[in-house]
Amino acid sequence: MNNLEIWQAVLAELELMVSKANFNTWFKNTGITTLQEGQVVVCVPSTFSQAWIEKKYHHHIIKSLERVTEKPIKKLEYKIDSIKNIAEACAAPAPNTEIPPETVTKPATTPTSGGFTLNPKYSFDNFVVGRGTELAFAAAQAVSNRPGEAYNPLFIYGGVGLGKTHLLQAIGNEIIKKNPHYQIVYVSAEKFTNDYISSMKGGEAKNFQDHYRTADALLIDDIQFIAGKDGTQESFFHTFNELHQANKQVILTSDRPPKAIPALEDRLKSRFEWGMIVDVAAPDFETRVAILGKKTIEKNFPLEEKLIKLIALSIQSNIRELEGALNKIIAYHDLKHLEPNEESIKTLLTGLSVGSMRHAVAPRQVIDAVCEFYNVNFDEITSKNREKRLSNPRQIVMFMLREELKTSFPTIGDELGGRDHTTAMHAYEKIKREVENDIKLKQEIDLIKQKLYINNV
Ligand code: ADP
Ligand code: MG
Repeated sequence: MNNLEIWQAVLAELELMVSKANFNTWFKNTGITTLQEGQVVVCVPSTFSQAWIEKKYHHHIIKSLERVTEKPIKKLEYKIDSIKNIAEACAAPAPNTEIPPETVTKPATTPTSGGFTLNPKYSFDNFVVGRGTELAFAAAQAVSNRPGEAYNPLFIYGGVGLGKTHLLQAIGNEIIKKNPHYQIVYVSAEKFTNDYISSMKGGEAKNFQDHYRTADALLIDDIQFIAGKDGTQESFFHTFNELHQANKQVILTSDRPPKAIPALEDRLKSRFEWGMIVDVAAPDFETRVAILGKKTIEKNFPLEEKLIKLIALSIQSNIRELEGALNKIIAYHDLKHLEPNEESIKTLLTGLSVGSMRHAVAPRQVIDAVCEFYNVNFDEITSKNREKRLSNPRQIVMFMLREELKTSFPTIGDELGGRDHTTAMHAYEKIKREVENDIKLKQEIDLIKQKLYINNV
């Protein structure tokens, strides 16, 4: 069997699982570039189809490839390439070359780590310094050059989407680079709180202390979260003191300065002021242009300067939204195989600024999109059945209806088979919490949103 035949056999299997329309959307113009010793590279036509296939069909593809080739698949990767190159690759014997650097690698097994690890995508190099972040950036670099000595603690505060998490993780990444043996503990304050609570319940206080108090650097994101939680604050107080006395670096972020965090113990407020407090402010126009310029290069989606300026003018609030707008613009043009121009971008931006998709999308479309993603059907998701297979997507629907469409809780209950509004509220709160800590869930919801959005442009 050559690669072409193998891929056709795999597609034949996948076709049984997927609706016709989706099959065409996701698998048209895909193929195997190389298959060698259990390592496969599959070509896909766009970043968007790559993201979707990877999320939703990765394991099915591996299983199917294993059935068809009767050999174990150790690694499956995706590469964005045109069908023409794929056809050539299929006809010719697979070249024995190294995998090119732009190939996206994903291990064949699902990673099991549910913990918090530093994300290498956050670095100093890809942080664009503007007037609002000069001081924070300089302080972050100083701390990563001399952890425990420059400013301790370093406290970074500012509004959402302005780069706090980016800077925090960049510091962590930089410290590790310079001191590979260092033990860096990076968590959200929510995770710290949960760890503390479970350590109390499980009689594992010692493990908890060992983990946090032996760190060479402790990085806690969104520390305002511990305010009002007495046990957690107490525990953090001791952790802080121990680390500080041992000259171990502590870095914290928050949505506001220590003084302005209500229900934060005074002794903590005063400790936060021992070191350095810096803020990050919203980016000005030039900085937004520079950020967009950098991101278009990173994402391999070059845009003319005047188009970049157009986006920078329309989205002023924060960098997360700026990046979100750019991602949507990329996904749209990628999927439709269009060249971006002033008009297409303006249309997309107008769609974004009038409350994203709120006006264009009906609740039923959200339900259908979620059903499709999780392979359940409408009757099941609106039924009384509470199996996890159904309850999870059901809660995601409730969350998305609220978050995206601002649907009222009673209406959400009605849409999902006449459930009580309190059920909708709980589901919303639950998923909202989970999304903050669960990157996989967040990506899934993003993909569902992208699909909804693109179908409604
Ligand atoms: P916060 O934690 O303040 O809410 P994040 O650090 O999560 O915000 O930033 C939101 C997004 O914007 C991230 O993808 C981040 O990489 C990006 N970002 C923020 N500030 C910058 C910057 N100055 N340069 C480049 N990217 C940035
Ligand atoms: Mg953050």
